Amino acid sequence: MHDAEFADVLDSVRRFVRTKVVPREDEIEDTDAIPADLRRAAAEMGLFGYTLPVAYGGLGANLSQDVQLAFELGYTTPAFRSMFGTNNGIAGQVLVNSGTDEQKQRWLPELAEGAIASFALTEAEAGSDPSGLTTRATRDGDGYIVSGAKRFITNAPLADLFVVFARTDPAARGTRGISVFLIESGRDGVRVGPKDRKMGQAGAWTAEVLFDEVAVPASALVGGQEGAGFGAAMRSLVRGRVHIAAICVGMADRLLAESVAHAKSARQGGQPIGEFQLVQAMLAEIQTGAYAGRAMVSEAARSYDSGADQRIGPSAAKLFCSEMVGRAADLAVQVHGGLGYMHGIAVERMYRDARLFRIYEGTSEIQKLIIGRALIRDN
Ligand SMILES: Cc1cc2nc3c(=O)[nH]c(=O)nc-3n(C[C@H](O)[C@H](O)[C@H](O)COP(=O)(O)OP(=O)(O)OC[C@H]3O[C@@H](n4cnc5c(N)ncnc54)[C@H](O)[C@@H]3O)c2cc1C
Repeated sequence: MHDAEFADVLDSVRRFVRTKVVPREDEIEDTDAIPADLRRAAAEMGLFGYTLPVAYGGLGANLSQDVQLAFELGYTTPAFRSMFGTNNGIAGQVLVNSGTDEQKQRWLPELAEGAIASFALTEAEAGSDPSGLTTRATRDGDGYIVSGAKRFITNAPLADLFVVFARTDPAARGTRGISVFLIESGRDGVRVGPKDRKMGQAGAWTAEVLFDEVAVPASALVGGQEGAGFGAAMRSLVRGRVHIAAICVGMADRLLAESVAHAKSARQGGQPIGEFQLVQAMLAEIQTGAYAGRAMVSEAARSYDSGADQRIGPSAAKLFCSEMVGRAADLAVQVHGGLGYMHGIAVERMYRDARLFRIYEGTSEIQKLIIGRALIRDN
């Protein structure tokens, strides 16, 4: 996106998040749903396809622009960005990076308009390590029959399209022999379980997805190439990690704003608690973490866009920022005292919401393994 156009989008998203979404956070929490008018408005702003190429109806944001938007989106409930997060991130990027032109034409314009794609990789024994994947895609005439069970799939109950990872070559070991398929949610044999009851991020839904002998044509195979699934998943996840790190920074900014406001207004011993240096120290720690995270994410995105680093930077940013926001949420609850433990207080909700960032799109341990392995291999 050109700078001037991007500045307009960024400004609109910032204003929308702060004036339209933040005031609805309790409603989203209580109803466990994003209100239909917010979904419509997000689609009208182009948020369902802001990273998708302009040629296919998206806004064409590069990663440096994506993270600036994510700093803003992270300021409110992560459920809002989750609604279009899979389109722009993990699911959509598989199509952008690895789809044939025909597959892109078929799906990307629809996604950019507001249809939803889900990324279906995780299984009961294939989470951190996809080599245990047991979902199978067996050749059947010109097409395939897909069978297996996926769990924790974000947006599954809303999905129009599943980007599904399945083993096409049972003889291939580990992550070789994994392919990726585009499967419409309405196909015979696709069943989505009830939405999971989660710790936090109410309004963002995950569910189990069962593929019971689902027949798909050969054109459903992403890129028309068997065995390319693991590479496609990893490429998509790397970019997603920088985005998630930016969401964490946005949340840390919000935790800071809530904590400063509380510290200035709440009183003990006749004075605002913000006058106490031990409270100021907690604010300083949140501020410093958010600042470090912002600098790190911006650098990781720049290096990703230039091609200088598409491995260590994204994992380092995701590791640091997801841990940082967990600490920030803990401190924010502490600044709020007993109030911070009460439902209806924003930092209590964010404390629960933040916990997920250290788990999905690669746990903190997996990020350390990626960084460590790259350091040993490349030096
Ligand atoms: C709310 C939510 C949304 C999600 N959305 C999606 C989605 O849209 N699509 C999708 O495909 N998946 C999704 N996931 C799945 C998510 O990516 C996985 O839960 C995550 O990757 C961890 O895998 P796991 O749950 O199997 O845990 P495990 O891999 O079993 O991990 C358990 C623990 O073991 C550690 N561990 C595992 N392997 C190693 C190792 N080699 N060395 C050291 N430690 C290790 C982990 O770090 C962790 O601490 C979602 C999960 C949640 C909770």
